[in-house]
Amino acid sequence: MKTKNQTIEIAENKIAQVIMPIPVDTPFSYSIPVDLLDLILPGVQVTVPFGERYSAGIVLSIGEPEDDAEFELKPIHDVVNAEPFASAEMIKLLEWIADYYICTLGEAFRLINPSVNLNKSSLMIKRAVAEADNLRKSQQELWDKLEDDWLSLTQLEKRLKRKNLLHRIHLLKKKNLIETFYKPPEELKIYKTVDLFSLQKDSLKWTQKAREKYLIEATSKYAKALELIEYLRTREGVDRNILREAGFNSALLKRLKEENVLLVETKKLLRSQELGYSEKKENIVLTDEQAAFVDQVKPKIAKEHQGFLLHGITGSGKTQIYIELIREAVSRGTQAIVLIPEIILTPQTMARFSNTFGDRVAVIHSRLSKAEKLEVLQRIREGHFDVVIGPRSAIFAPFKKLGIIVVDEEHEGSYKQHDSAPRYHARDVALYRGYLNKIPVVLGSASPGFESLFNALAEKRYAYYYLSSRVGARSLPRIRLIDQREEWRKSGERPILSENLELEMEARLVIRQQAMLLQNRRGFAPWLQCGECGYVMKCENCDITLTYHTYGRKLRCHYCDYTAKAPEVCPDCQSLDIKYEGIGTQMIEQQVIDRFPHSNLLRMDQDTTKRKGDHAKILAKFRNKEADFLVGTKMIAKGLDFEQVTLVGIISADQGLQFPDFRATEKTFQMLMQAAGRAGRGALSGEVLIQTYEPDHYMFKYLRTHNYLDFFKKELQTRKTLSYPPYSRLCLIRVSGENENNVSHYAQEISRFLYSAKKDKSYSVLGPAPAALQRLNGRYRYHILVKQDRKKDPSMSYVRHLLKRSIYLNAEIKKWPVEIAIDMDPVEIL
Ligand code: ADP
Ligand code: ZN
Ligand code: ZN
Repeated sequence: MKTKNQTIEIAENKIAQVIMPIPVDTPFSYSIPVDLLDLILPGVQVTVPFGERYSAGIVLSIGEPEDDAEFELKPIHDVVNAEPFASAEMIKLLEWIADYYICTLGEAFRLINPSVNLNKSSLMIKRAVAEADNLRKSQQELWDKLEDDWLSLTQLEKRLKRKNLLHRIHLLKKKNLIETFYKPPEELKIYKTVDLFSLQKDSLKWTQKAREKYLIEATSKYAKALELIEYLRTREGVDRNILREAGFNSALLKRLKEENVLLVETKKLLRSQELGYSEKKENIVLTDEQAAFVDQVKPKIAKEHQGFLLHGITGSGKTQIYIELIREAVSRGTQAIVLIPEIILTPQTMARFSNTFGDRVAVIHSRLSKAEKLEVLQRIREGHFDVVIGPRSAIFAPFKKLGIIVVDEEHEGSYKQHDSAPRYHARDVALYRGYLNKIPVVLGSASPGFESLFNALAEKRYAYYYLSSRVGARSLPRIRLIDQREEWRKSGERPILSENLELEMEARLVIRQQAMLLQNRRGFAPWLQCGECGYVMKCENCDITLTYHTYGRKLRCHYCDYTAKAPEVCPDCQSLDIKYEGIGTQMIEQQVIDRFPHSNLLRMDQDTTKRKGDHAKILAKFRNKEADFLVGTKMIAKGLDFEQVTLVGIISADQGLQFPDFRATEKTFQMLMQAAGRAGRGALSGEVLIQTYEPDHYMFKYLRTHNYLDFFKKELQTRKTLSYPPYSRLCLIRVSGENENNVSHYAQEISRFLYSAKKDKSYSVLGPAPAALQRLNGRYRYHILVKQDRKKDPSMSYVRHLLKRSIYLNAEIKKWPVEIAIDMDPVEIL
């Protein structure tokens, strides 16, 4: 460790630009110590003095100092690792993200987490004088724990059993009673290790002293050591923990090691990745349709950029295609990234990849601990993996030489990060990373997003390929609409399960096949309403109804997690007539149990899959036919492949159509299509029953015939009329805050500014208007939507630069008492 006062020789005429992961758009300048000069290269991770402490950053470039530099630059403290942390390509990618998604470069660099492998810069404290008199009690307390040697703040917190010591430290320092400094961050231990102990059999190599003690004297004074030597005569490489259990403590091990009596080998322990069970299918030969696509892509692997849109119906063998393409990339010595929405990262999917790539495939997902994630990233850097599978953040995997990128279910909204900057879309980042690396990017889906279809079919930006048939000549399931208005008219009731659906379920029980029931609402009832006065229970913090959960009879907000006990009487009129409205998965579960008391049912939603492994357990049970029915939210709509499922029931198909979102129909259609795709994937053919109160909705015409492309064309007309994407590009500006007047006022300001900056540029400004969810987490929300004709300015660059310069980086606006979020190509607009 360098100490503070050491003089460092600084390289002349060289400075480094270092980017820090904080919301600042420009790098910071540092001078370079001569002995680090060779190591300071773009992309290298360094620690630098920053304010009073030290931070980690990434070197962006090396240049010459400006002549008129006013103050002396501080020197870089150290290089963490000589290998670049960020490749030149990664830096370009992050620069593009900062530019396109309108955030600072520092925020973009957070995506690769430049301090992930370091501990924090810690404050070190020691006494500066021997005695201190007349201290106040709290300072005295601290003083008593201090020493003449350096202690870290954390150590002191432990000794005093309390936090928040900074104020006292400050006071003692002012009196010159203590010295402090910040210790630079150090590398965390990435790998778990074990020490394995063996006996040095050649006692001539022991120290002289040891030979005397254990061979010549050998008295009972050394009994424990002698016992250990005996113990290890017949054993090799024994784990420290086993020795401890056998009664040999660490002090003894340490002493005998120092005396060269013991040999120690430190071994890396890899945290195992659970890739689930294997379901081996040997010798899969691609169908002609599959092979034709693979042949198109293969020549470009690791060579040439090209976007491919693989539009393949459910069960057409897309995953198998990805595996073949990646196998080719790996055989060329390159690596692959596969993006899969978290919700589909099932043991089943992972097993298919690990069957082919063994332990050369890694999975990144949100349930990895920090240590596990760090280890995976480190092993990617060290070249232990060929393939990484994961949700959106996996696109930043630090591979050195990519050969191909696959984005499965490319239409999925979860690829867009919308809650914090950078608000990037992983599919689009994948395309850009593919372009930088000159490699193909395959976007796959049974229901491609309209933007992608438009890019492929109308703009010819991607090669489009359609897989029209299911593998093994399996047919797509038959889709039947159940008009629930009829039953309603007849009986005046709105049953959860229609007569038709019940009949089909019963039939499945008889012939011992399985059924899945989809309802994309968890909990029991989405809202409670008073039958007397109509009062609806709403969240205290959000403009949203509270969902009733049977477990603990709780009301729960699905946005902010506010919970309350369900009331027995109406809070407004004290009536006892409280009605459970809407349908949640728990309600369906209860209904099915009431109706089929001898059946077995599993429920899969966020509430039943809270712990690691829950998800896999439910799926394994269903696969083993331990249940007849699987009820769930859209979690069950995707990616699952069960041969015995011959019935899929959609409980309320209209639910999603009500959202005030121009993509509501597209999203609903996609989900229904995915869900329908779960039926009839084995040798048995399948059937889908869709319950709806709006059977005449045009969407169903296309859904029944599985005709996605015609649905797309129909929807495009509406989009064109209203000039919505894909005909336009959108940028959503969200203004939020605790005071509604402020929010509305400052939203007006921004909107006025955008109008005034318009000149002849062809964009329109919609709003400000209160967001559909006007209040969330206690904050009021207003939206301004900027819409740009794609023909006039395809990447919306005028607006983007205007927003970045004049709004996002504007120091005055930063002082406003509201939060401003800029969301380019928004997916979530409620
Ligand atoms: P998708 O991803 O398009 O829904 P999958 O890749 O999951 O389709 O394929 C559906 C099923 O068909 C899987 O069980 C898969 O193992 C199997 N399969 C895929 N391709 C072939 C093939 N060429 N020969 C035999 N079985 C295949
Ligand atoms: Zn009431
Ligand atoms: Zn809430």
